[in-house]
Amino acid sequence: MKYEFTIFGFGISAKITSCLLARNGFSVCLISDKDQKQEISNTNLVTFLSRGSLNYLSSMFPKTKQFEEHPEIDSIHCELNSLRGNKPQSIKFNDGEKQNLGKIVKNTDLEKYLDQEIGQLRNINIIHGSYPSMVENKKDEIKLKLNNGEEIDTDLFIVSSTKNNLADLISIDFIKKDLKKSAISIDINGDIKNANCAFQKFTSDGPLALLPYSKNEASIVWSLKRDSKLLHKDNEELLQIITKHLSEQVSSIKMTSNEKHKLQFVYAKNLVYKNTVLLGNIAHNIHPIAGQGLNLSIKDIALFVNQIKKYKSLGYKLNDQMVLEEFEMKRKIDNTAYSFGTFLLDDIFSSNNNFVNYTARTGLGLVEKIKNLKQLFIRSATGEDFYKAL
Ligand SMILES: Cc1cc2nc3c(=O)[nH]c(=O)nc-3n(C[C@H](O)[C@H](O)[C@H](O)COP(=O)(O)OP(=O)(O)OC[C@H]3O[C@@H](n4cnc5c(N)ncnc54)[C@H](O)[C@@H]3O)c2cc1C
Repeated sequence: MKYEFTIFGFGISAKITSCLLARNGFSVCLISDKDQKQEISNTNLVTFLSRGSLNYLSSMFPKTKQFEEHPEIDSIHCELNSLRGNKPQSIKFNDGEKQNLGKIVKNTDLEKYLDQEIGQLRNINIIHGSYPSMVENKKDEIKLKLNNGEEIDTDLFIVSSTKNNLADLISIDFIKKDLKKSAISIDINGDIKNANCAFQKFTSDGPLALLPYSKNEASIVWSLKRDSKLLHKDNEELLQIITKHLSEQVSSIKMTSNEKHKLQFVYAKNLVYKNTVLLGNIAHNIHPIAGQGLNLSIKDIALFVNQIKKYKSLGYKLNDQMVLEEFEMKRKIDNTAYSFGTFLLDDIFSSNNNFVNYTARTGLGLVEKIKNLKQLFIRSATGEDFYKAL
């Protein structure tokens, strides 16, 4: 079979990309790397979708207005405990004039919505439970041979699966590092003092975030060293410890689910190799400390689709190398800054060294005082400038 785009993967990034390309009239083959019976994810993970990502998705998918009832996050409050027992240093993004910074959305809700969209688009063909066993990157197209024997010719091959290691087949180098950390994601309901505020406390065990997605429901994400005893506490004990840390933010909370996630750092040195493009976590799997992983991928996808549309209308081929190189170059700085920046931030804020702790407190104090600097961080995290320039 011949398609303009073939996408391998079945996560949020693969689904957003398929829908956007199909909506623009392209023929899309979506190869799911999941067993068909397990295609509906059942994770309790949530995503802080920045204002930029949300506005972009709402303009592309008008029905995402279903997230309208989610509370707007209008402030982000970070608090850093001192090793010396001084008063905690805190920083509030947006405590002055309130503006929408984004919303917290359950990943399963986003996926369910995307599945419905995919179901309505006739130019997406889904191949279930398969993977490419041979990738032949020719000058003007790609030939794929799947493990079930099926053969596909495609103008562009988009890799978005982190499950099967395609690295040897696609000739792209990755920087990979085991962060030796795991995150617990806990769903709670109870009394949330301010459902419009995302709160992050840098405890000596690691960053603990409270992410409200309704008036009385929130996700708690705690990134911990992999040898942390907290990872082995029973639910009741863990909830007690968390309630103590978040006593000013929540009360009477009940845990509805608890999951563990191994944290790994992955950074692809290139997003493009000949007629292959990487989109999603496969291109940059970053620490969740700044809540930017999916937001970065949505920026990549938005720019990619825009470039393809723009240059196609000017008569360029879909896999014109100049077009693909321009896409890669335009995303390099943002992706590199967030990938390595979040890596460093986590190291600094979870350090038990007095000097590093003092420096981090001083740094936070400075950012808190300099209004323009704070505004710069907000503009970057909301993706405002990026989407304006798109
Ligand atoms: C604790 C935590 C909190 C986060 N918070 C935020 C946030 O607030 N804001 C934000 O923007 N981002 C956040 N992220 C990142 C965000 O969840 C990811 O960027 C996003 O889910 C990646 O989607 P994806 O489709 O690109 O990749 P993936 O979800 O990795 O999916 C890619 C493909 O890989 C396959 N796959 C991967 N692993 C497996 C497996 N084990 N078994 C079967 N198939 C598999 C899937 O089927 C899919 O086809 C967070 C991540 C974590 C771990």
